[in-house]
Amino acid sequence: MSEPEKSSLFPTYARYPLTFVKGEGSRLWDDTGKEYIDLMSGIAVTNLGHAPKQVKEKLMEQLDQIWHTGNLFHIPNQEKLATILTDNSCADAVFFCSTGAEANEAAIKLARRYSQKVRNSGRYEIITFEMSFHGRTLATLTATGQEKVKEGFHPLPEGFVYAKYNDIESVKSLISDKTCAIMIEMIQGEGGVLPADESFIKELDELCKQQELLLIVDEIQTGLGRTGKLFAYEHYGIEPDIFTLAKGLGSGFPIGAMLGKAELAEAFSAGTHGSTFGGNPLATAAGIATLETLLNEQLPERAAQLGTHVTDTLSAKLAGNPLVQEIRGKGLLIGITCTQAGADIIKEIHEEGVLVIPAGPNVIRLAPSLNIPQEDLDKGLDIICSVLAKK
Ligand code: PLP
Repeated sequence: MSEPEKSSLFPTYARYPLTFVKGEGSRLWDDTGKEYIDLMSGIAVTNLGHAPKQVKEKLMEQLDQIWHTGNLFHIPNQEKLATILTDNSCADAVFFCSTGAEANEAAIKLARRYSQKVRNSGRYEIITFEMSFHGRTLATLTATGQEKVKEGFHPLPEGFVYAKYNDIESVKSLISDKTCAIMIEMIQGEGGVLPADESFIKELDELCKQQELLLIVDEIQTGLGRTGKLFAYEHYGIEPDIFTLAKGLGSGFPIGAMLGKAELAEAFSAGTHGSTFGGNPLATAAGIATLETLLNEQLPERAAQLGTHVTDTLSAKLAGNPLVQEIRGKGLLIGITCTQAGADIIKEIHEEGVLVIPAGPNVIRLAPSLNIPQEDLDKGLDIICSVLAKK
């Protein structure tokens, strides 16, 4: 089905003329039976490939036991997933929700409440970055440093200012007696797969410590092994006060998480925040199986190795192509920046049976599953390079 004749959906998405009916590993099949190599993983979600056995088995087991009870009761899967996450990160406490925007919303609320109720400082302003993306709720679209996501949604919540990415002087110029936190992606995903400089993040971390500001890292796209470490902040040798996850956490089952240091926990006392579905038994079953598989199969390490292979291959094959400016990213979150908007190129790559997506105005984004067979990856790269060579 390329285009439904009549749709009853709000037209919030510009969809490609493709309908997928089956997914297995890093392969997808459309409704005409055509096979595709998936190098985008449902926008960095199916990090273990489509229908991973371990997650499917755990979900089937959970489906036979209990689906939902609500957060008025103890949920053993939630406790278990929180322990796996805290054992493997710098965080001590976890709040579960269902999406990335909700995880960031929770982070924004926690930073404000900690500043106002625990530190009694009355601070509320959060510095975020130009070209960042943090979600589509009112607070998270306001946090987002891109005007187009805000158009027509005014008035916006107060308390967000935007610094230039990778520019410490710009951040310093925005700090005031109202600032409570700085919120940043270690690689700007939607903004164009743009990694933060190491020296910038180190200085930012120092600045937060000196000025007693909370550092919030949005790991929704970069987390869970995607960049070659379990969390992208590990590349920079820092420990954020708060970080957020979603996308890859449930391998496709909706789940998000906001994680923070122990001293922040008292700011979120009973009744201050919540979610009906957040961390329900099914979602957290998917999260446990996903995390256990990522760790047992050392997939962050594999993403690091394969990422180097992809960058080397693309750099060699695309050298001298006047359309290509730069290959950038970390691990298996990679951008090919082009001298022109990539929409036509992406459509042609799809027609050749490889799925990639755009990021920012002129970047072709690759985010294959972390366990993609190398033959599939190499075949996909060959096709991308041959399409780019014809342009
Ligand atoms: N933050 C980042 C860095 C993202 O890439 C996204 C989604 O693309 C979000 C937040 C929002 O996540 P969701 O669409 O699950 O609300």
